[in-house]
Amino acid sequence: MAMLFIDYFDKGAAAFPDRHFVHDGENGWTYRDMKALTHRIANGLVASGLGPDAAVATYAPNHPMGLACQYGILRAGMVWLPVNARNSVHENIEVLRLLEARFLFFHSSIAADVPGILEAVPSIRGCVCIDAPAAGAASLNDWVEDHGTDRPYFAKTPQDVASMPTTSGTTGRPKGVMLTHENWEAMVAAYQIVMRLEEPPVHIVAAPLTHAAGYLSATMLSVGGTNVILPRPDPLLIMEAIDRHRGTALFLPPTVIYSMLAHPRLRDFDYSSLRFFLYGGAPMSVQKLREAIDVFGPVMAQTYGQTEAPMTATLFTPRDHVQALADPALAKRLWSAGREGPLVRTEIMDDDGNLLPAGERGEVVCRGSVVMKGYYRNEQATADVSTAGWHRTGDIGVKDEDGFVYIVDRKKDMIITGGFNVYPTEVEQVLWTHAAVQDCAVVGAPDEKWGEAVTAVIEVKPGMQADEAELIALCKERLGSVKAPKRIEVWPALPRSAVGKVLKREIRRKFWEGRERVI
Ligand code: ATP
Repeated sequence: MAMLFIDYFDKGAAAFPDRHFVHDGENGWTYRDMKALTHRIANGLVASGLGPDAAVATYAPNHPMGLACQYGILRAGMVWLPVNARNSVHENIEVLRLLEARFLFFHSSIAADVPGILEAVPSIRGCVCIDAPAAGAASLNDWVEDHGTDRPYFAKTPQDVASMPTTSGTTGRPKGVMLTHENWEAMVAAYQIVMRLEEPPVHIVAAPLTHAAGYLSATMLSVGGTNVILPRPDPLLIMEAIDRHRGTALFLPPTVIYSMLAHPRLRDFDYSSLRFFLYGGAPMSVQKLREAIDVFGPVMAQTYGQTEAPMTATLFTPRDHVQALADPALAKRLWSAGREGPLVRTEIMDDDGNLLPAGERGEVVCRGSVVMKGYYRNEQATADVSTAGWHRTGDIGVKDEDGFVYIVDRKKDMIITGGFNVYPTEVEQVLWTHAAVQDCAVVGAPDEKWGEAVTAVIEVKPGMQADEAELIALCKERLGSVKAPKRIEVWPALPRSAVGKVLKREIRRKFWEGRERVI
């Protein structure tokens, strides 16, 4: 039987009481201190009259007290609702309403929006500011003082819901995803196998803790991991922090890694402490992956998954990277997302629900204890992504004879041009090889002749210029004229989601304004 999520924290606190659980660059909080604080927060929640199914939100940028509240909520036996502070308030109100939040822990930077949030989300019965006194709400310090006495917490089973993240909404409206304690255990166990931790890790936290960085942080609790929290995912801050704190592990989305690689001070820092540099959440340029390995060492690892089956649907380990680089016969694996994680099956399925053999393209499906319990209050959507016990990811992929899975693209992003299917990632991989291209996105734009024309939008590296004809010629040479973009536009910045993913639907919207297409 699986443990509960809080057990991982308590194992870390028992084995490493004096290690820092979290550090903000100036101050550190030990596991011992944090454990005491999580008890006080749990007492406060129970004393507030909330029940075991209450969804309690943390709405804050990455912050030590946000982590304290997360584990306080889990200790009380309630449901943690992570809200990404980089979304707009409007989007987050939708999330809080959708998931029927009962209580809100917020950061002072949100304080001005709190009255509007409370009005728009009447299910919220109380709120506390985690870092400072704020008008109309108690500060965390005062609130825990007022609710100091020990109370019984709610008992949970591994199959109960521990957290409800939302899909980040890259292709549609966010949905609430019910992750159980067992789901978390499957993820933690998989990473402990893959990371081969020999000493307590130092986790440099730059991406939102509401998503992959939060999952990675959880996997290191029981081995005394320290979370060094940065104020924002700034390339220079990240590079400095790895050096200064002797960081051993981190997660970043590909776009932030591209900014680091293009940074003039990239080579000024010591990255030799790194053991596990995880990327994922979106396709990564193979060219830039090679550059990253050159700079950061044989420590790159890739995760493929989704909110519904987080982090381990496939894993491409540091060892896999090293092997692929060392042996030309294995080099193609650098285009893959690795093999299925230790506690999950990941296969390829056709539209009729048949599993496909190696080499055939179809939808990526998975099953195992990492797959969500379902979408919150949305049985139809849950049924739509489930076939014969397999979870359908909505991604197109192919597996090779050795079990490496290649993510071709999202079904929704496929371009149909002149009757041919073009998967944008393939074209992006070619554009990324050009020295002037910092980042790019390929979409279908309306076209009289082709129906949809392959169209690329690019961000150029600082101080460089892009020659559109040259880029089109490069794609024609590598991919032929059907897949090569008909048009290339240079934009100062691609639209990105709060977790740093390029929002192709926003790019398509610009091209399809006033026309019919399901964006
Ligand atoms: P939506 O809201 O439209 O469901 P999302 O981006 O919000 O999408 P997430 O769960 O955050 O949903 O992202 C999961 C998706 O990100 C995957 O289904 C896949 O398309 C993409 N993805 C994740 N990891 C990788 C990877 N390593 N390589 C390629 N694509 C990836």
